[in-house]
Amino acid sequence: MQTNRRRLLAAAAALGGSALLPGPLRAAAGGRAVVIGGGWGGLAAARHLRELAPALQVTLLERHDRFRSLPLSNRWLADRLDGGLPEFDYAAAAQRFGYAFRRGEVLAIDRERRRVRTADGDLDYDWLVLAAGIRDDYAPWFGTDAKPADEARRRFGSAWQAHELPALKARLDAFAGGDFVIAVPPMPYRCPPAPFERACLIATLFAQRRVKARVVVLDPNPAMPGFLRVFASQYRERIVYVPQARVEKIDPFAQTVSTDFETFRFDDALLMPPQQAGDLAWQAGLIGRDANDPARASGWAAFDPLTQRSLADPRVFVVGDMVDRASLLFGHYPKTGQMAARQGRLAAAQIAAEAQGKEAPRLLPESTCYVLAGAEPMEMMRIETRYRVRGDGLVLQTVQQHHDAQPRDEDIAWARGMYTELLGTPG
Ligand SMILES: Cc1cc2nc3c(=O)[nH]c(=O)nc-3n(C[C@H](O)[C@H](O)[C@H](O)COP(=O)(O)OP(=O)(O)OC[C@H]3O[C@@H](n4cnc5c(N)ncnc54)[C@H](O)[C@@H]3O)c2cc1C
Repeated sequence: MQTNRRRLLAAAAALGGSALLPGPLRAAAGGRAVVIGGGWGGLAAARHLRELAPALQVTLLERHDRFRSLPLSNRWLADRLDGGLPEFDYAAAAQRFGYAFRRGEVLAIDRERRRVRTADGDLDYDWLVLAAGIRDDYAPWFGTDAKPADEARRRFGSAWQAHELPALKARLDAFAGGDFVIAVPPMPYRCPPAPFERACLIATLFAQRRVKARVVVLDPNPAMPGFLRVFASQYRERIVYVPQARVEKIDPFAQTVSTDFETFRFDDALLMPPQQAGDLAWQAGLIGRDANDPARASGWAAFDPLTQRSLADPRVFVVGDMVDRASLLFGHYPKTGQMAARQGRLAAAQIAAEAQGKEAPRLLPESTCYVLAGAEPMEMMRIETRYRVRGDGLVLQTVQQHHDAQPRDEDIAWARGMYTELLGTPG
């Protein structure tokens, strides 16, 4: 109880800007760093740990044997990407960079013992980087009733996790027509423009295939003006955008979704419930408190944005989409792949400095995100998000949005650069 109170105080203090950070931790010569999760955050952490602290043993744990990319996946779903969905072998990347890769399910983190439990045995660590991504929270829709939640996940899942993409592609290829609903989750969620990009590309795909369909987008968040314009100009007949559409009730058996105002019947759907940090952050006790109601869990892993260190444990660093608010001034970092990768690098720099008894460099992440807004003709948005620390210690965010009416596959060039950085190959 005492420890919990101290953690809460530290969380509040870090978000308020004062630096209540634990002092450097020194491990025995060498030391062991374990990275959980081979997504954008974990791959960056493993690679940079290896480079910045060559004496550390670095092990990446991941349940899949191949990395799949969510960036560019909307293009792939809509047959607008040559060469298939970008996929890479984890073992080859590990060999290239010189860290160990262990494929398998991580079952639990034992923070007292600094030990990770996997299906194939335990692994001890001096430093842990947790980059396990997100999970869907069906409780606001179905409470504790597992049956409709399983049905919604199985038949109308959104493929917001990379390994679910092939199943969605098969559904799109089989879609015979009618209403295709996209229920956008409330903020914060992974890659905010991606549902709208997907709506445009899917609507274009259906039109090309002469499938008689409407894409109905239910959005509970403030509208993104760039997409409003595109929906109204390019997709007037094919996309129905419903603003202020908070989902009240879903029946995945009858295939209906109800908002405050209206009930929609659907022939197929991407039903996206609220998102949260992935399971391991909950199991390990790393979740923060709600900003407005401290009695409630925030749903995300509380961290210090200047170091990526968990507020619950100085030996644990949390990175990527699973992290909680970064600042009282703007809330969450955008949950993007580049942001996750920069956080992974930041955590690696902290650990490397600690392992070597040095001062850690002061870094902040940044994100550049390319989004297709419309496919006929193709238009692109580039969203640049940058950060600096204000005098009082709070992180400040600036966002710039650029519009390009004549794109030249800048999104593909960006992704290839990231694959080279994370996996050592341009793909
Ligand atoms: C449709 C779509 C388009 C997007 N487009 C872009 C874009 O253009 N640009 C951009 O910057 N971002 C984009 N994003 C966002 C980007 O994909 C995410 O921000 C990024 O994947 C977050 O990385 P992460 O490391 O936090 O999580 P993830 O990439 O999800 O990685 C988490 C990893 O942890 C593993 N894992 C979890 N639990 C366990 C366990 N118990 N045991 C073993 N392994 C485990 C998972 O298998 C997974 O590989 C897009 C997202 C979507 C959905």
